[in-house]
Amino acid sequence: MTRTYLIKPVLDHHYPAITHGEGIYLYDSQGKQYIDGSSGAVTASIGHGVQEIIDAMAEQSKKVSFVYRSQFTTEAAEQLAKKISEIAPGNLNWSFFVNSGSEATETAMKIAIQYWQEKGMKTKSKIISRWMSYHGITMGALSMSGHIQRRERFELMLESYPSISAPYYYRDAGHRTITECDDFYAQQLEKEILRVGKDHIAAFIAEPMIGAAGGALTPSDEYFLKMKDVCDRYEILFIADEVMTGVGRTGKMFGMEHFNVIPDIMATGKGMSAGYTPIAAAVVSDKVMEPILNGSKIVMSGHTFSANPQSAATSLAVLNYIEKHNLVENSAVNGAYLKGKIRELAEESEIIGDVRGKGLFVGVEFVENKLTKKTFDRGLDIVNKIVEANFEEGLLVYPANAGEDGLTGDAIILAPPLTITKEEVDELVRKFAVALRNVEREVL
Ligand code: PLP
Repeated sequence: MTRTYLIKPVLDHHYPAITHGEGIYLYDSQGKQYIDGSSGAVTASIGHGVQEIIDAMAEQSKKVSFVYRSQFTTEAAEQLAKKISEIAPGNLNWSFFVNSGSEATETAMKIAIQYWQEKGMKTKSKIISRWMSYHGITMGALSMSGHIQRRERFELMLESYPSISAPYYYRDAGHRTITECDDFYAQQLEKEILRVGKDHIAAFIAEPMIGAAGGALTPSDEYFLKMKDVCDRYEILFIADEVMTGVGRTGKMFGMEHFNVIPDIMATGKGMSAGYTPIAAAVVSDKVMEPILNGSKIVMSGHTFSANPQSAATSLAVLNYIEKHNLVENSAVNGAYLKGKIRELAEESEIIGDVRGKGLFVGVEFVENKLTKKTFDRGLDIVNKIVEANFEEGLLVYPANAGEDGLTGDAIILAPPLTITKEEVDELVRKFAVALRNVEREVL
């Protein structure tokens, strides 16, 4: 093999080189076509090569590509912050721009801690999260995450934040109703707050629907109402991590809109610029900003590239594009169609245990035995097999297993660009069915 200089995720794995993309398709240097059924890492949400975005990027770079946020502001950053305050629920009116989802959740965490400090409650500094969750790779974000594979090498250096179960009805329900499960999860949160002490907890963080660590795990309509009620009773802020679910992915502009709960702080990223440039944000409510505005007047965080005008102009163009082309609605409609088609496949398949999700965020969980829900032998690496088999067929799917505990399910996520048409969904499903049959032949 020729020598390479780029550190890739798996160093001895061959990654084809992509030469270009158009719509939902990517093309490699050998001419192979792929359906981007995962929008990369649930990111390329308006598809590839959209001329309007390319034009907006060129327009901004002709004006200015970089200014430092401690010295100047730009029209691009100001307009993007205004746009986000318009599309975000409630009075989430303030944006702090960063460059990745990890920075967004970590900034959200810091702002939550600062909020309590400004109010004179200096011990409120821990964050409660759910064990099946992924909030990012940097140390603070990883401390709030339960993704075993991504944590284990750094375990000794992570903060030991409290954590509780995620709503995983497929495995937790058993003889319990969904309502009973939700009551159990809310009680767990309450018990954990009482154990640690409410004076030590700044916030509870949760993804509206769990992505990488669960495979589009979807709570009931009541789950978040119950969790928020506990947070309010014990004066704990609620941070929604919308990095994966935000900006139309689940068939609403933001995932929390399905559950009628407005967070105090929200992290968003990925689909915000649809991958055209790196940008993410911690979006903060008036309530949380108030003591900071009346107190130190400085949000203690920031990165060199924060509020980068090139990225801000790109994100603004993407948000306008999503609105202009009704892509949130398309996500709801074609997402329901996709989920229906995968459910049909699941009925015939011997290894699909669960199909879940909302909008174009569809999780598929695989089991060795559909009756007992027994997971496959760890050595089989079923998720990787599914991903590889789809890759062979020219379909990209997103792996979503949370660890090697033997209990956590093995899932993938289907999350094509929100621009996908019904005919393209059919094409995606045909490829998925072939890959599924190939894996079944191998493992059964
Ligand atoms: N939060 C959630 C819910 C995510 O899915 C991810 C990435 O997958 C992150 C945070 C971290 O984002 P990034 O990879 O951009 O740092």
